[in-house]
Amino acid sequence: MAKGVHRTDKERMRSLFTDIILSLIIASLCILGINSLKSNNNQPIAETETPAAPVYKFGFNLDQFHLESMTIKPNQFLSDILPYNGIDFKTISELEQKSKDTYSIRRFRAGKDLTIVKSDPCGKAECLVYEPNQFTYVVYDLRDSITVKEVEKPFTVCEETLSGVLETTLWDAMSASSLPMALISNMEDALGWSVDFPRAQKGDQFKLVYDMKYIDGEPVAVGNLKGAYYKNDKEHYALHFENEKYSGFYDLEGRATKRDFLKSPVKFSYISSRYNLRRFHPILKRRRPHYGTDYAAAKNSPISAVADGTVEIASYTKANGNYVKLRHDSQIQTQYLHMTKFAKGIKRGTRVKQGETIGYVGKTGLATGYHVCFRFWKNGKQVDHTRMNFPPPKPMDKDDLPAFFSKKKEILDIINTIPDPVIQTVKSDTTLHSSKLLTSTDLFNPMTNSPSLK
Ligand SMILES: [Zn+2]
Repeated sequence: MAKGVHRTDKERMRSLFTDIILSLIIASLCILGINSLKSNNNQPIAETETPAAPVYKFGFNLDQFHLESMTIKPNQFLSDILPYNGIDFKTISELEQKSKDTYSIRRFRAGKDLTIVKSDPCGKAECLVYEPNQFTYVVYDLRDSITVKEVEKPFTVCEETLSGVLETTLWDAMSASSLPMALISNMEDALGWSVDFPRAQKGDQFKLVYDMKYIDGEPVAVGNLKGAYYKNDKEHYALHFENEKYSGFYDLEGRATKRDFLKSPVKFSYISSRYNLRRFHPILKRRRPHYGTDYAAAKNSPISAVADGTVEIASYTKANGNYVKLRHDSQIQTQYLHMTKFAKGIKRGTRVKQGETIGYVGKTGLATGYHVCFRFWKNGKQVDHTRMNFPPPKPMDKDDLPAFFSKKKEILDIINTIPDPVIQTVKSDTTLHSSKLLTSTDLFNPMTNSPSLK
């Protein structure tokens, strides 16, 4: 039956922002600077002067061009800015026409950066550069015939490692630390079949190897997770491998970590009430069996189908609130209660994939706090899914194992160099963290096709 987040859980939620859960020790070795790649830091500074290499921004040589950057103000238009920079209204209207197919100047928004490029600081604007997001910029060349070009910013990919130890739950850790959500989410994806994350406990350790994308020295996106290690009462590994036949995460023996059923339907959650045939119901104030497992999570957290299946019911009852029941095979059904709403397209007969979002965490029906009451039905009876054992899949084909083992060694060699994290007695936001430069786009060279190069 429905179960909410009762008092102690509420207190726990309240203490989220005061408790620091992860012990993090930063040992950043990331090689981001160009200089640190080219010069040896142990060397004294060169005594003989060498001409400085030209510095480029947006592909413009700063020795030859004068760049004026501004942040677009609310209700500020190009027609307010450009006439002061020697551009007439006829050109602006031509620019509006010519930019339609690439990146229309009508899409300019307040709060974004705009740069005016001139070869003579007192002369007229020759180019405009608009930055719609962290990843790209758009160059509007006003010289001769107007051209517009969207350019991907040069970026650097670092292979990074990180380790942490839980002081309470992963869910708490997420809220209290500065770890990128995407990284923990990727870890849950990789290990979510073998590690029961909502039951993560104090002392659990994890180590991750992943790519991080940097632009202008700032981390902008978490890339692929290459390997994950998690230690609770057992050691769990998920190593990424890909060839023509396989793609995904594998354990040390080359078995896919993926199983037919996910351990839990919500990420970043914790178990607020277990399957219990003798439970005292907090709302009904009497003993009433709890046939489900309650996962408390933030309002509107996505709820995932734990396995491929078909929607049998997507409906509302007074007790269940908005709920979905899926059929997976002739024996097994799963049920998810108290949703705020269903995901788009979820109705009777819809086919869903494992991990697909079917609804969002709410407290509709008989519930006091935000959670999903998850029910696992086997042959028409509700069972405790946390006690079920699903057979591990077969290892990959023998022919593919040598390639997998060599990849495995490569990733394990890195994981094994990551020092064990330690629980800190002092509250601090620290993880063991390091990185190494993997690839870099043309950081050293100006874009050869830049409109600014003469
Ligand atoms: Zn429940």
